[in-house]
Amino acid sequence: MDLGIKGKKAIVCAASKGLGKGCAAALAREGAEVTICARGAEALNATASELRKSSGAKVTAVVCDVTTEQGRKELLAACPNPDILINNAGGPPPGDFKDFALDDWRKALEGNMLTPIALIRATVYGMMERGFGRIVNITSASIKQPIAALELSNGARLGLTGAVAVLARKASRNNVTINGILPGPFDTDRLRGTSEKMAQARQVPLSVIDAERKGAVPAGRYGTAEEFGSVVAFLCSTHAGFITGQNVLIDGGGYLGSL
Ligand code: NAP
Repeated sequence: MDLGIKGKKAIVCAASKGLGKGCAAALAREGAEVTICARGAEALNATASELRKSSGAKVTAVVCDVTTEQGRKELLAACPNPDILINNAGGPPPGDFKDFALDDWRKALEGNMLTPIALIRATVYGMMERGFGRIVNITSASIKQPIAALELSNGARLGLTGAVAVLARKASRNNVTINGILPGPFDTDRLRGTSEKMAQARQVPLSVIDAERKGAVPAGRYGTAEEFGSVVAFLCSTHAGFITGQNVLIDGGGYLGSL
């Protein structure tokens, strides 16, 4: 299927690795011009070259921290009028509610709620004027079913989801959609890092943790960044203009509610 986004301009935040990279690769494969960012220059530039080679698309790399005002300024300077915006950033650290100070909450809100809101505010009205826009917020399955130890993430991502729910409907009049995409466990550095910490804490081999975590997913496996990117690319396609304000789980059936 031709997704109809050849030549569209896309910003993909936090995209040198993992889910963001999966999205950037899928959009570039469809012929979109992609601007990606991350803090670490080496991995970001390597990803940009890899995507240029594999897709032939124009790929611009911006080394920045997207959770800062300066970082977002640099990103938007590289791609001032995006047609597609994929909001993403690193997730907040795990821990226990009693150990989180207010500053921890402020950081989580800054990274996973206020940063996407700032980027949406800076881009959505231009998209509406031009009559096309696709915004996808990478959140987490935790907004449907809270994850123990990830309370900072549970709170900040749910805040973002509520904050854009009305705008998602308003913007759709002008063919601009805003959707959330809710990953369950995906095989990325972040997931490998949390599994390693769990293995250390319980003093068991990593393979034990992996088997338990995969066993808890009805599909019996982790998702891949490639399949994640393909779903996001579809949501960004010309075919998906009637899907807005939705929060789409990609979790191998992990969420057990019927609706
Ligand atoms: P990952 O493999 O660790 O990749 C994170 C990417 O984001 C890297 O490219 C990283 O590069 C970049 N990044 C992190 N902080 C950034 C910042 N402040 N500014 C710019 N770039 C930044 O992580 P992932 O698994 O793809 O996760 C992506 C998001 O999805 C996270 O918020 C995570 O919590 C959420 N999520 C993941 C899963 C999962 O199973 N993987 C499940 C649910 C939710 P630099 O470090 O160089 O900046």
